[in-house]
Amino acid sequence: MKAPLTASPMFRLAALAVLLAALAACGGDPAAGKDAAQGSHAHAEGDDHDEEDEAPGQTTIPAARAKAAGIVSAAVGPGTIADEHDVQGLLAPIDGRMAQVTARFPGPIRALRANVGDRVRAGQPLASIDSNLSLTTYGVSAPISGVVLSRQAQVGGVAGEGQLLFEIGDLSQLWVDLHIFGADTQHITAGVPVTVTRMTDGVSQATTLERVLPGTATASQSTVARATVDNADGLWRPGAAVRARIVVASAPADVVVPLSALQSMDGRDVVFVRTGDTYQARPVTLGARDARQVAVAAGLQAGEEVVVEQSYTVKADIGKAGAGHEH
Ligand SMILES: [Zn+2]
Repeated sequence: MKAPLTASPMFRLAALAVLLAALAACGGDPAAGKDAAQGSHAHAEGDDHDEEDEAPGQTTIPAARAKAAGIVSAAVGPGTIADEHDVQGLLAPIDGRMAQVTARFPGPIRALRANVGDRVRAGQPLASIDSNLSLTTYGVSAPISGVVLSRQAQVGGVAGEGQLLFEIGDLSQLWVDLHIFGADTQHITAGVPVTVTRMTDGVSQATTLERVLPGTATASQSTVARATVDNADGLWRPGAAVRARIVVASAPADVVVPLSALQSMDGRDVVFVRTGDTYQARPVTLGARDARQVAVAAGLQAGEEVVVEQSYTVKADIGKAGAGHEH
C-alpha cells in the first residue's frame, strides 16, 4: 500500500491483489471501487509497516471524533480466562432437616398449637391428644426446630396411631440442585465456586459445589450437581427455580481482550490497534474465552492500545475508507 508511483511491476501486482481483496471486503460495491480508483481517501502518511499489505486495513479518526463516537481504547495485558457454565436448578429442603410429627397413640385430638408457617423450636408442644389406650392426655412436641410446612389434622378429630399431624422443615439452609449434562458431568466437580441467583428478584449468593450426584435422570439425561445456600431472608423457597454460574477453572493468559474488542474482517478475527489517531485492523489468533473476555494467543503484544468500546464503529469506518488506502 505504500507503493510509490514508480513501483516495480511486482509491487504493483501485490498492490492490485490487496486492492481486490479490499473491494471484496466492501461486498463488491461498485461505488466503493470507483471511490477507490479515484483515490479520494487519504491514508495516514509516515508509517512504515510494509507487512500491512496482509492487513485488512486501517483508518484515521481524530481524537475528538473518536470521543464523540464513544470509541475507547485501552492497553491490553495479562488476565484470567474462566471456564464458566451457566446452568439452571431447583431449591430443595436438605434431607434430614425435615421432620414428621405423628400421633403415638390413637385418640381424639384435644389441641393443635401451631399453624402452617409458624416457626417452632425443638421440644415445643404442638398437640394434645387423649389416648384411647391409657385414657390420659399426652403431648406431642416438635422434634426439630424449623417452620411448620403442613398441618394434617383438625382439633376434635380422632388421630390414628402414627397419624401425621405436622411436617416441619428447617429451611435455614437449602440445597440447590443444578442440572448438568453430558461431558460437563466429568468436567464439573465438587469444590468449584458457584453463584446462585433467584429468578424472582435476581438476588445472588456465592457458594461452593458440594458434590455431583452419581445418578443421571432418565428423562432429562441430566445429573444433579448440588450446593447449599443460606436462607437467612427466608426468600429462598423450596421448589423455586434458580439459575447458577459454575466457574470450573481459571487459566492465566498473557494477553486478554474484552469480547467487545473483537470484530471479524475478511473472515478473520481482528482487533483495532490504536497508534495516535490511526486505527489498524490487526488479525489475531484467539485462545480460550469466557463470558467477558478472550485470550489472544498471537498477533498482539501486552501494552498495545486496543479499541475496547465501539470497535464496530472503527470497523465500519475502515469499511467506508475501503480500498482508498491502496494506490
Ligand atoms: Zn467447561
